Amino acid sequence: MEREFSAGGVVLRKMRGRWLLAVIEPHMTRPKKPGKKSTKTSHTVPSATALPKGAIDPGEKPDQTALREVQEETGVQADLITKLADIKYVYVRNWGDQARVFKIVSFYLLLYRSGKLGNISPEMRVEVQRAFWIPLDEAPKALSYKGEREVAEMALQYLTAHPELEAHSANARR
Ligand code: ATP
Repeated sequence: MEREFSAGGVVLRKMRGRWLLAVIEPHMTRPKKPGKKSTKTSHTVPSATALPKGAIDPGEKPDQTALREVQEETGVQADLITKLADIKYVYVRNWGDQARVFKIVSFYLLLYRSGKLGNISPEMRVEVQRAFWIPLDEAPKALSYKGEREVAEMALQYLTAHPELEAHSANARR
């Protein structure tokens, strides 16, 4: 089976006493089913709530990918804290070759440093409908994919074990 490797970030920020998580709604379009009568060339499927992530470029380390993708997809700069986990899933490409793909995504815990969420380039708008903060404790419910819900749970556990992260967050530029 074909394999893909991506990396992404669980970006946290403490505001008004509450930890927030940066999430995105990716644009989810797929080609029209053959034989269906429609004037549209594609239709939109219900959107997902997901963590920012993307393909690891040649020569890039996964943690660098996570920071780059977070910047590109959400508009914020973040600092690397630790690796959380690799998540794995299989999906079927709904374009081109319809291949089954085994995908591994490495997720990193990142702390917000600067920038405005949603401040992304016009090219990125094609991929990301919106980026927004949600309370971290709601993430295990709000995120669409099981693997991502699990990494959000791990982030919560890491925060409990490392209360010193609060000081780091307080020093972030507003
Ligand atoms: P990337 O963001 O890594 O460049 P992509 O946008 O090309 O990737 P994915 O986000 O992996 O592709 O999405 C491909 C398919 O897998 C979609 O149908 C999506 O709904 C599904 N998918 C995405 N993330 C997960 C996940 N964590 N668990 C299960 N299915 C997922």
